[in-house]
Amino acid sequence: MRNYKRFSIIIASIFIFAMYIQPINTHAETSIEYTEEEAAFISRTQNGEPIKMGILPHTFPLSDTPPNTQEYVGTNIEMLKLITSKTGLTFEYSRINLEEKSPYQSLLDHEFMLVAGTIKLENFLTNPNLVLSDRFDDGSLICISEKSTDPNVLNTGKIAVLKGYQAGEEYSKKQFPSHEIVYYDDNAQVVEAVRKGDADIAMISRYVGIYELQSPLNENLNVISPYQVEIDSCIMGLNTPDMRIAISIINKGLSQISENEYNHIQMNFSLTHPYNLSIVEYVYENRYFLLLGLCSLFIFIVLFRKLLSTQKDRSALSRDPLTSALTEAGFELAVTKLISKSNKPLFITDFDLSNFSTYNELHGKAQGDELLKSIAKIVGTFLSDQDIICRSYADNFKVISSKNSIEDVISEVKQANEIFNQMVDSKMIFNFGIYPIVDTSIPISKMLDFATIARKNAKHSSERFIDVFDETLYQQHMKEMQMIEYFDKAMANKEFVAYYQPKYDVKTKEIIGAEALVRWCTTTGKIIMPGQFIDLFEKNGLIQKLDFCMLENACVFLKKRIELGQKIIPISVNFSRIHMFSKDFVDNITELVERYEIPKHFIEVECTETAMTYDTELSKDILGQLRKKGFEIAMDDFGKGYSSLNALSTMPLDVIKLDSGFFSSTLEFDTNRANKVIIGVISLVHDLSLKIIAEGVETQEQFEFLKSIGCDFIQGYYFSKPLSEEDFLKELYQEL
Ligand code: C2E
Ligand code: CA
Ligand code: CA
Repeated sequence: MRNYKRFSIIIASIFIFAMYIQPINTHAETSIEYTEEEAAFISRTQNGEPIKMGILPHTFPLSDTPPNTQEYVGTNIEMLKLITSKTGLTFEYSRINLEEKSPYQSLLDHEFMLVAGTIKLENFLTNPNLVLSDRFDDGSLICISEKSTDPNVLNTGKIAVLKGYQAGEEYSKKQFPSHEIVYYDDNAQVVEAVRKGDADIAMISRYVGIYELQSPLNENLNVISPYQVEIDSCIMGLNTPDMRIAISIINKGLSQISENEYNHIQMNFSLTHPYNLSIVEYVYENRYFLLLGLCSLFIFIVLFRKLLSTQKDRSALSRDPLTSALTEAGFELAVTKLISKSNKPLFITDFDLSNFSTYNELHGKAQGDELLKSIAKIVGTFLSDQDIICRSYADNFKVISSKNSIEDVISEVKQANEIFNQMVDSKMIFNFGIYPIVDTSIPISKMLDFATIARKNAKHSSERFIDVFDETLYQQHMKEMQMIEYFDKAMANKEFVAYYQPKYDVKTKEIIGAEALVRWCTTTGKIIMPGQFIDLFEKNGLIQKLDFCMLENACVFLKKRIELGQKIIPISVNFSRIHMFSKDFVDNITELVERYEIPKHFIEVECTETAMTYDTELSKDILGQLRKKGFEIAMDDFGKGYSSLNALSTMPLDVIKLDSGFFSSTLEFDTNRANKVIIGVISLVHDLSLKIIAEGVETQEQFEFLKSIGCDFIQGYYFSKPLSEEDFLKELYQEL
């Protein structure tokens, strides 16, 4: 569109030349005859006395002095050069300071000998002080206004005129007598005044106007046709003998300039010297292209960055740097491909090592890393070319392998397990879950979940270390999904109920407290045990709500007793390891207990040893804060798996809960050494000024043993199972 406009302006210019320009000389190039005086004058100008020629600035394409240059450019300059070449008359150009005075005034002040390109005004022609050349150039004037301006109603307003441009001033007064003339320092400003609405009309030289209209910023401006003034420009000098000679020579030179030469100059500054776009104009003119370009660039950058990051992600995700096994993301991708092209039965095996964190603690991280590397290598020896191994996280690996039957997979798993077991001690167990891919339409993530479910099932079983995902497990999985879905409703129905298992003083056999253990009592009257949902709710964070629900149950229970003035016994509540990562944990417990106005030492926070040692510093801080607030802190399941004596000494604790397995095995083997260990632990705990409670005490024998070695408290079926609130109250009354 813009190019079209510029093209039409250029065509219009050509048309104007054709219409208005009187041929300067149609039969140029005859030799010029000079008088003696003229010849002498010419040689004077050539020998150190050039004619000082005043040049109008800011009137491109007529004449201009580009900023920061000593150059003079424009059609007037080209005409002067032509005169020089034809006559030998030599000029020295000098810029007329239009901001200060008109060209006429500059001549009167003898600043210049001649001025090039002034208009042949009536009053110049009749001014005896002046001598004017023949037609030097086209000096016509045009009026520019907004396209929407109706030329017939231009009665009042402002006219923008170049300062010192006498023609503009004179014709403005003549054509628009009731308008106010506003002066500007250059022609670009003259046009800009109209564009910006500061003036209604610009009175401007034709070529300058046409040139300025090419600016994309001026696309809403137009020449208003009725007000054109056809007029010539000339070279003007003071009427002195020398300048009369100079003008005479110039006239002779002008007469030698052919129409072709003249047109060539004009064309040169129109066609081959189109409007010089400033950066702003360039941006404006090409705004749609630039916008498109910028959008494309933006999209390109976004896509490119995405490509880079996905490539980075892919390379980062696809391989685990430690074992060179695929990462889970890379694995999912590879499994998708494998499933689509394989026609043999495929199996996903998920396995991990129980207590890997303990292995790390015992042997150091470097050896832990070596163990993982070895595991990956060993698995590799069982894999065929297309089978794939991945390390999902820590010690969890997944494998997809093609085998003829599940029996083949199990047989290989058993072989691998034997090798694995040689690298770890007997208390560490590898658990395997296998999912035979029977339905390829199932999402890969689900298939991986199924193998994991099977592995976890094996982990919970005391007889097996391998489990295959089958219909039973699938049903169990569906049940778990339902439990998660139903959780909020169950909370609202108050289906999670606290059962209280009393704790007894070994010496007095008195109830010294109770542990709140959750039971899911469904609306159908079924009681679901925590073993069926605690792990599940830990996995998805629902455990946090559940534990606080138990804490609230305990608070309600205690509050009732306080209000009734009954004997208060401390209640311990289990808090999952998940809370250790919640920054609001301390505040939330405090807020709830304070809301029920329960003295804090009646609440014991039970946290497993494993939870405490997951991030020791974090746990120390959280438990320390709780203890400072007055809560009792118990370390649950001490002795289950591996125990770190370091945790005993550094954790802010009040009570150690000895896991049943700790002393049952001791009793089983009844060795002197094992007894010494437990005696040592009890004495150590006491030395640390902590209390010790033995859990899962079922028999008189166990009780007697624990009593004999100085255990403080006992919790177990030997005294009481976990009881409903009603039964627990009965138990408490019996005591009284
Ligand atoms: P825990 O914290 O170690 O709780 C003790 C478990 O041992 C209870 O199982 C209890 O019923 C059982 N127990 C007590 N005495 C004996 C005994 O003499 N013999 C045997 N065989 N078992 C005994 P329960 O109630 O099934 O809870 C199992 C586990 O579920 C708890 O182990 C605890 O880790 C978790 N749990 C229970 N309630 C909650 C809860 O409200 N929040 C959280 N986060 N976990 C809970
Ligand atoms: Ca507990
Ligand atoms: Ca326990």
